[in-house]
Parts: sequence; C-alpha cells; structure tokens
Amino acid sequence: MSIVPTAEQQAILDLGPTSIRVRAGAGTGKTTTVALVISNLVAHHGIAPERILGMTFTNKAAAELAEKVAEFLPETVDPARQVEVHTYHGFAAQVLAEYGPLAGVGTRSGVITPTFGRQLIRDVFYHTPRPHLDMTYQGTLDRIRKLGDQLGDHLLRPEDILRASSIHREDDVWMQRVEMAETLVAYNEAKRQLGVVDYADLVTISTRLLRDHPPLGQAIRERYGVLVLDEYQDTNPAQRVLITTIFGDGFPVIAVGDEDQTIYEWRGASAQNFEEFTGHFPTSDGRPAHDTSLTLNRRSGPGILEIANEIRHRANPTAEPLEAAGDHGTEVVTYWGHDALAEAEWIARQFEALHEQGTPWSEMAVLFRKNKDFPVVVDVFGRHDIPLEVANVGGLLSVPEISLLRAWLSVLQNPEDSTALAQILFGSGYRLGIADLAVLTRWLIAKSPEEPDSEDPEPITLVEAIEASDEIGGLSPEARKRLNRFHEIYRHLLVETQGLSLAETCRLILDRTRAWQDIEALPPNPRLTARLNVYRFLDLADDWSPLSGRPSVAAFLDYLTTMEEEPAEELDSARLSGEEAVTLVTVHRAKGLEWENVAIPAVFDGNFPSMPAGGYPDPVRFAHQLPVEFRLDTTVADLPDDENARRAFLRERHFAQEWRVAYVAATRAKRRLFVSGAYWYGLPEPRVTPTKPSPLFEIVESHRDTIDAGHAEVGPRPDVLRSPDRGADPDPLFTDGWQAALRMAMENPQEVDDLAIQHGLGDEYSRLVSEWDERLFALDEVAPMDRPTAAPTVSVTGLVTYAQCPKRFYWSEVDPLPRRHNLAATRGSEIHRRIELHQKGTIPFDELEPGLYDAVDEPAEGDGGGYKAYESSRFAELRAGYVEAPFGVELENGFTIRGRIDAIYVDGGHWEVVDFKSGRRNDDPSRLVQLEAYAVAVNDVPFSGSRPESVDVTFAYLGGGLAEVSTPADDSWVQAARSHLTELTDSIRQGRFDESPGPWCHHCDFLQFCVVGQNEVAE
Ligand code: SF4
Repeated sequence: MSIVPTAEQQAILDLGPTSIRVRAGAGTGKTTTVALVISNLVAHHGIAPERILGMTFTNKAAAELAEKVAEFLPETVDPARQVEVHTYHGFAAQVLAEYGPLAGVGTRSGVITPTFGRQLIRDVFYHTPRPHLDMTYQGTLDRIRKLGDQLGDHLLRPEDILRASSIHREDDVWMQRVEMAETLVAYNEAKRQLGVVDYADLVTISTRLLRDHPPLGQAIRERYGVLVLDEYQDTNPAQRVLITTIFGDGFPVIAVGDEDQTIYEWRGASAQNFEEFTGHFPTSDGRPAHDTSLTLNRRSGPGILEIANEIRHRANPTAEPLEAAGDHGTEVVTYWGHDALAEAEWIARQFEALHEQGTPWSEMAVLFRKNKDFPVVVDVFGRHDIPLEVANVGGLLSVPEISLLRAWLSVLQNPEDSTALAQILFGSGYRLGIADLAVLTRWLIAKSPEEPDSEDPEPITLVEAIEASDEIGGLSPEARKRLNRFHEIYRHLLVETQGLSLAETCRLILDRTRAWQDIEALPPNPRLTARLNVYRFLDLADDWSPLSGRPSVAAFLDYLTTMEEEPAEELDSARLSGEEAVTLVTVHRAKGLEWENVAIPAVFDGNFPSMPAGGYPDPVRFAHQLPVEFRLDTTVADLPDDENARRAFLRERHFAQEWRVAYVAATRAKRRLFVSGAYWYGLPEPRVTPTKPSPLFEIVESHRDTIDAGHAEVGPRPDVLRSPDRGADPDPLFTDGWQAALRMAMENPQEVDDLAIQHGLGDEYSRLVSEWDERLFALDEVAPMDRPTAAPTVSVTGLVTYAQCPKRFYWSEVDPLPRRHNLAATRGSEIHRRIELHQKGTIPFDELEPGLYDAVDEPAEGDGGGYKAYESSRFAELRAGYVEAPFGVELENGFTIRGRIDAIYVDGGHWEVVDFKSGRRNDDPSRLVQLEAYAVAVNDVPFSGSRPESVDVTFAYLGGGLAEVSTPADDSWVQAARSHLTELTDSIRQGRFDESPGPWCHHCDFLQFCVVGQNEVAE
C-alpha cells in the first residue's frame, strides 16, 4: 500500500531515525502517520522491521498498530520480520519475565487484576486494628488501593511513607496515611507469598532492576534501532523513567500523542511526560528532540472542528487549532428539553429521520459522560424500535436482559440478596405483587431468632421463605404457583451450575429462565439489540479472569459493581461488533472511534463537565492522595497552602481534564453533532431542583452555525419520570405511571378510592383492598424445608482436563490456584459467538468485520484465520437443528456430566454432532472425551423430545484451514464411551489427582506450581 504523505507527515519522515515528538490532534491520522514513519525507516534508513519496538496503551491499540504497519510493509507478515509492539505494561512484564529472578520475582509470576488486589488488601486490612481509619466504610479499601497505585506511579514503596511519618505525628490525615501504608506493606508481603505482582509492580520492579543492573538495560537497547511510543500523553512518571532508563541519552525515540486528549490524569497519567519529552529524549548529538505537529483533521467538517477547537481552548489556550482537510458539510444542533425523557425522544427522532434518509444505524452513536444517563435512552430507543449496541460494561448493566441476568447471578451466589431476588420476582417472569412479598417477609420476621446469639445464628433468607411457600398462609394460589416455578428453577440452577465456568453459568441461567425464548419472541430490532447485549455480556464473562483460582461469580459481581460506579475504569476503547445498530457508549470508551452522527446527551451543569466524585484530589485533606513532595513530576508542585487557593487550583486542574474529555467527545463526530440537555433528571424520582445548561452546552449553542432545535420551558417538577419498567402505553387510570400512583396512594388513600369510584370500579377496588389486608396481616407460621443437596457434577471441559492431567483438573476445579488469562480461549469464544449467531440466522457473512474474529489460537499463514475457515466449510451452508445445545447426562455411578454442544446437524434420523475448535488439528486422545460425552448425551437426553437413529461425532478444526475428524458413534462405540466416562468420574470420586505430564505442560496455567511439569518442560 502506498499513500502520498501530507506536508506535515513528510516533514516528520524527512527527519529520519532521531528523537521526535509528534503532536497529533484528534482525527489527524495518527496511526497512519506512525505506520508511514516505520515503513520509511525500513525502506530508506535500512532499519530492519524486527529492530523497531513499538509501545502503546492497550492490547487493541497494539494489534491495530501492528496491522497498520503490515499494510505498508507486507514483509512483516513473516513472524520473524515483525515490528515488536507491546503495551507499556506488557513491555515491563517482558523485562521481568526475562530478568525477574534478579529482583526476587519468579519468571512465571502471575499478575493480579485490580479486583483481586482489592480482595487481597481487604484480607490484610482486617487483620490489624487501624484506629485512624474507618474500618466500617467500604471506600477505605479503595482509598488504600489508590494510595498504592500512586506510590507505584511515582516509583515509591509504602515504606517511603512510613519513613517520613515521624515529623507528622500530630496530623490526623498523616496518621491515616501511615495506617494505609502499613496495610500496603502487608499487602506487598501477601503478594510475595503468593508469588504474584500487580500492574504497578511490573513497572516499579523492572525500573529498579534496570537501575541496579545497567548492563541489562544496555542489552535490551542493543536489540532495537528505533522506539515508537503511541498515546504517550497517557503514560505515568514511572513508565517514563522505565523508558528513559533504557532508551534515554540519544537513542532514536518517536513519541506520538496529544496532550489535549489526556483524560486519565486522575489515574496517574502525567501530561508533563509529553510536555517535557524533548528534554527527556535528546537526539544523539545532545540537542532537544525535534518537535512536530499534525493539525490537518480528516475526520470532521469545519463546523464541528470550530466548536472542538473552542472546547480545546478551555483546556489549553495555546493549542494550535485543528484544520478541516475538506468541507463535507456539517451540522451542529442543540436541544434543551423539559426532562430526560423528552430529550431522549428528541435524539431518537433525529436518528430515525437520518435512518429514513438512508444513514445506517451503525453510523450513529450516543456518547455519555456517565453511566447513570444510559437507562432512559435505552428505554426510549427501545420504544422507538431502534436497534442498539451498548458498548461499555456500566451501560450494559442498565439493559433489562443484563440487569436480570446479573440479579440471577447474585441470588445464586448469595441467597440473602433480597434486592436482586425482588427484582426477579417483580419482573416479567413472575410478576409478584408487593402484597405477596410482604406475606413472605412477615413469615421471615416471625421465623427469625429474636436473640442474635440464639442457638440458630444463621439468618433465614427470603429464598427459604419461598421454599416454604406452600405452607405459608395468605399467599394467593397464583402467587404460590409462580413462587414454586421460581424455586424449581432456582434449585436446578444451584445444582447444575456446580463446576461450570462463569460464562457457562450465565448461559445456563439464560436457558433455564427461558430468556432466549423471550428474546427470540421480540420484534426484529429489539431482538437484535437484546442479542447483541447478551452476547457482549457473555463475551465479557468469557474474557474476564481474576487470576485467583477460577473466575468466581462473587469476584465477577464485584467487578461489575466497580465498572458501574466508575465508567472511566474501562481503559480500552470499545470493540464494536459492526452490526447494524446505534452505539451507546461512554466518552472514555469512545476514544479512538468515530461515527458520522454523534449525540451527546445530559450536558447540564455539574454533569458534563462533571464534578469530581468525592472532592478534589487534595493531599492535605485526603490521606490517600500522595503528598506533593513525593511526586516524580512537578504538575502540582505549586499547590497553595491556603485552603481556598488550593481548592481553586485543584478545581482548575479538574476542569481542564473535563474539557479534554469534552474535546474527545466532540471530535468523534464526522458530519453531525447533536448536543442536548434538559431541566429534570433522576429516575424514577426527579431531582428537587431543575438543572441548567452547562458551560459546554453554552459553547456549542452559541456557535454562529449551530441550529437551535428548541429550548423548553422549565415547567413544574414532574412527580415521576417514566421509568424503563413502565409499558409503552400509559395506564388510562394512572397516566403518570404506577410509581406516581403508589406515592399518591400513600399520601392520600382517599384520592385512590375516589378515582376507583369515578371509573365505576369502587366495589372491585374495595374487595381487592380487603383481600390484601387479610394477606398482609393474617399469617400462619410454617417450618422451613430442607435445602437441596448438590449431586456430583462435572463439566465436559473439566472431564477433558481430567483425562489429560488429573492434577491440572485438581488445581482448576477442586482446589483452584491462580491461573493466567487465556487469550486463546477468548479468541475461541469470539469465533464460537459468530458461528452461533450465524447458525441462528442472524448475521450475513458479508457484514462481518474482516480481521476482528479471524484470530485463532495458533494462527496460520495465509488462510485468514478460523472464522474464514468456517465460512468456506460445508457447515456454513447448513442450518443446524440445535445450536449451543445444553445438556446434563447422568451416568450409572450418579455423576452428572454437563456441557453444551456447538451444533447438531439433523438429516432425517441421522445426526452429526459437531464441536468447532478455533485452533489447529490436535489428536491428543484426551480430547476424545468431549465427543464421547456428546455421543452419550444425544443417546440419553431427549433434545426437544427426539432421538437420532445414527450419529456421527465430529471435531471441526478451524485454525490453519479446515480439518475435520469424524467418527461414527454406533452402539458399541457409545457403550465404550459410556464405560470410559464412568471410569473417569469414578476416579474423580476416589480422589485420584496425580500429575500426568506431557506436551500440554508447556501451556499449563499451573506450571509454576508443578515440579513434575517443570521437569517435563525442561526435558
Ligand atoms: S504442569 Fe503438566 S503435570 Fe503439572 S499440572 Fe500442568 S499439565 Fe499436569
């Protein structure tokens, strides 16, 4: 591929291999420029591609950069000739993987996630009394973690805080800080004992290591000819020191970034790194690095860019304005509605009008500053039949299907979670009334021990009340029936989810609660929306790994809560499916993406730009903020002593960052930008006072070319904003919705009586009220029933693992040990997701994004990867009779095997059972256990009431081109399979978990714990 560089790009290319800072404004073709620079170095300066090292911020960006380079340099398709691209953390991890033992870190140490780190801090925190810290406040743990992160960002240890503490003994904030540091010392010790490190450790330990052993840095430096740093504005001081330790002092370093898109300063990024790059990375003759800029924006039209430049000016008054590369006609529209619903309606109508004129839904996006603003838009767009893709975790949790799935996970994990249970019981599946729940609650109260220290200290849960519902008086027959239905499903799920992975658990809940059937029954657009959201959530569950044993439901729920509370925690930009749907995403996740049409809602004062949650980061007031004198950078060196002045200083810094977030939001739009707000927000109860337009709204509104689509009157405060759980058609009696009606009934019961009489419903209403009264206040007492006991269960995956190495099974299922994140499994699950969608008849092949789903665990040259192999196989032409079919099959010894068959192709009485593998052919005999289990399942389990007359079982390997391995499963084959499965499960029951080393030890997550495996690998 060859393109003609612009004058700005050519000026950079002409500099050759030397140190350069490239200020690349939004939409100026940063990735293309980096790829051009690299190909120029290879083509004209004799630097081999494999001697070029690239670093960027996320795995996705690293992959995109490598892909872009391959477009310009086809020779880099050869793995031996590839440019080496890492994330910043990934590079530090590689240093430790190579030289870690010199710093006391094993080369196979695991890296723990922030969630696991938080759990570990919690464990050590409660061991010791901390008189200065509030041990009852959950946020204390987060604050300790934040202090730990900041220490890491500035290459410090908690002991550095303790050393400085003696001069601050009278200062309460300092004493809190000391106790936090003591907790962090214990946390570091706990990590050391577990043989793990966290993200901050990767950089701090590798930097110390290289400083203590300069020849190591020299050895690394000699491997490369040039270093290219992407998104350099988001690096923290520790990362900068790591890079200068190896590559400072004249090595050619090219840094690309945009200080006006630094939106992660609050989590450690230091814009000072980018500002001072020219001094930190001098050229080989000792002069400051070259300074260049890209200002020609190819994405947005001039109208949008003028506004973006104005927004940017608020954060950086000296920034060079962006220029539009062409005028392809832009439109900026503002709207100010009465309330959030009116605003969402307006956006929906704008998008509908564009779609009617031929704009695809996928060229439209709604960008949110906060997760809390998602639900209204999700609800209103749903009612407008607009297909949606919610592309960040926090927003996804507000989608009804996902919210319900999360509630089920929560109840299975913790039967005491009454809020989640009530959500399920009040939802469309069971439709219980408040009166029914009140009956159960009163029974619970009557049953609960009066004295907290009585002999039966276990609290009785609502689930136990449901178990006993047949014997509780006061429940209507219909409610009893529904509670029994719920309980049956709950019991089954409790048993069936034993031993399943997180994603399998989610899938089983979807199956057992008939969520898929509900989704399939929806009209086409809501169906697509629901499927996309559910698949995104399943991908998340597949992808997510705590590195502490198996991914537990509890840790996953904890992670979801974190994501819900802090949208900016999702660092990586969103990965979109490419489906024909409007994207809903937070601004932080939208960085790096673009759409023809972008709407930014809820632009009201205090929301966008937003106020900091928990106050400005003042180290004088807050113990978890690192004192100025400890920092490696000088960005807050001028922090005033006077409290008011300090507040003003921090406020200004905070809002500069918020303006940068606004700049990122505005520059996502190519052609149309819709900016809106409203007076009344808050679900279901609106805020007490109306909002007003924010300064961001005013900037957009006051631009000379902006179209004002309306500005509503403030009007009276609505009683209630229609919530997502209210149906499309208002109830003729309660036009403001049931929540307003409930409030009215509580405040003035007579008004409801009068309303009923007015509509001729007086008698019926009186009858219902007295019936409910009776149920609420006349209850019988009933003894709780026994809880179900779990039958021995094993998943097919577990059984295959056991067949290969019982010890590996033991460490993954019986006594779980930390394990590595499995990228191959993630890729495999993506391919499976696409196959599943295709088999359900949803996705035409030509809509697939090439490259995105083609990754396989063992990539093969030239075939484009696994999905392409599927696409060209006979299976793509066939329609499966069953897709992702779940089963549970019981063996003679009482063990139940659970699993899910990828596809069953039915041809009359003949069935072909197929398992798709994303990797290359592998004839390891233990894999056959999977087909054995499937063959027994299709013989024993009535799938939709039918059974096959003859069966073939097939592995379809998609990596390196399609390879099929198929076996006829006749009666004798199935009998042998059954015996083998019984033998394996008997062996599990007898507790046989010896090591069984083999080639698979190379890829075993537990190799670091397994001496037998290590010997195998060494040989
Ligand atoms: S390293 Fe090898 S022998 Fe050890 S548990 Fe893993 S697979 Fe089994």
